[in-house]
Amino acid sequence: MSLLSVEEARERILSHFQPVQTETIPLTESSNRVLALEIRAADDLPLFDNSSMDGFAIRAADVTDATPGSPRHLRVVTDIPAGSSPTIFLAPGQAARIMTGAQMPEGADSVIPVEDTDFDNRNAGTAAPDQVQIRKSVKSGENVRLRGMDILAGRVVLDAGRKLRPQDLGLLAMLGVAHVTVYKIPRIALLSSGDELIPVDAPLERGKIRDSNSYTIAALGESAGAEVLRLGVAKDNFESVKALFEKAVYLRVDLILSSAGVSVGAFDYVKEVIESNGKMDFWRVNMRPGKPLAFGEYRDIPLIGLPGNPVSAYVGFEVFVRPTIERLTGSLSGSRRTVRVKNEEEINSDGRESYLRGEVREENGVLVARLTGHQGSGNLHSLVQANALLIIPAGVKCVPAGQEINAWLL
Ligand code: AMP
Ligand code: MG
Repeated sequence: MSLLSVEEARERILSHFQPVQTETIPLTESSNRVLALEIRAADDLPLFDNSSMDGFAIRAADVTDATPGSPRHLRVVTDIPAGSSPTIFLAPGQAARIMTGAQMPEGADSVIPVEDTDFDNRNAGTAAPDQVQIRKSVKSGENVRLRGMDILAGRVVLDAGRKLRPQDLGLLAMLGVAHVTVYKIPRIALLSSGDELIPVDAPLERGKIRDSNSYTIAALGESAGAEVLRLGVAKDNFESVKALFEKAVYLRVDLILSSAGVSVGAFDYVKEVIESNGKMDFWRVNMRPGKPLAFGEYRDIPLIGLPGNPVSAYVGFEVFVRPTIERLTGSLSGSRRTVRVKNEEEINSDGRESYLRGEVREENGVLVARLTGHQGSGNLHSLVQANALLIIPAGVKCVPAGQEINAWLL
């Protein structure tokens, strides 16, 4: 077994995955889904020239000298509430009362807000006056939103591979897109393995521990955009492990994710089961924590075997599984946030690429970081106290205080 770099291991895994199939769904269900096809605007936005103020549509040339002391009088020839389409042509000396968002009449080039007139009355149902005094000049085009000034019809507004955000949904609605073609949500089967594991709600027994990984990893899988099917705990025997793998096949999942049983141990049946119906590589990855990693296929379904130790399983997920799920979802933008942080106290490492639990905080505008708790790979509490993984590159044995390193915010 050779030692792989983190990057090599990740590339090997990712090379086996493509985005899942697509489906067309209503816009109402598309939040956080990933677009499979780019979207082009079918309309200009705004759809028509409209007012950005409640006021009077006018010709700027009519009011060039208007001031509060010497207002200009215009004749109000029509009223344009929101949702109506004016039919008049505004001639010199004329004004039209207009509401925010309402369509500009032909002939008008600007809008004077109500507060710059003698008719500052916005109460619903108030009729427009016959005449209005304009107390200020405006520039041609002022307070008018021109058709197409935001988006021209035909332009690509959202690219394929984009995870849809709330404002994206609003824009799609503006453009009349009621259905979108997105990637399906990848389905992942999750199982734990080990005779020592008991469910969270069972009475404790001597020598047993509660299965915690399935809770952590299921939540991680969902945060990465997958549907997680929890298959439970496999006992340390061939039949029990096999039964859960067969269940994953029956469920036609896109990925099987297991934890534990990847270190070379006499009681690990995971390897035996997989090799009865597929293939499995056990890797040693030059990282800490989480050196052992398994990758294979069971009846053509890809499988990633994470280490059993709770912190190693978490880090293994973030390093290998999150990017894998994101590739399955079709998303081209990762959810990970990497920041540069200043290391507060000297950190010693063993030369492996290390993902250490840390706390990042802001001090005088600078992000500073230090380790949380002892870094044992079973100490989940230190991960609970952490808000970041601090990354020490391979080959580095000491990071002095004050040096900058990368951190993943959790
Ligand atoms: P293994 O890879 O089976 O040797 O497991 C490594 C360590 O992780 C052991 O201390 C296990 O008890 C622990 N472990 C394995 N699976 C889980 C789990 N699902 N939840 C919590 N701890 C686990
Ligand atoms: Mg075990």
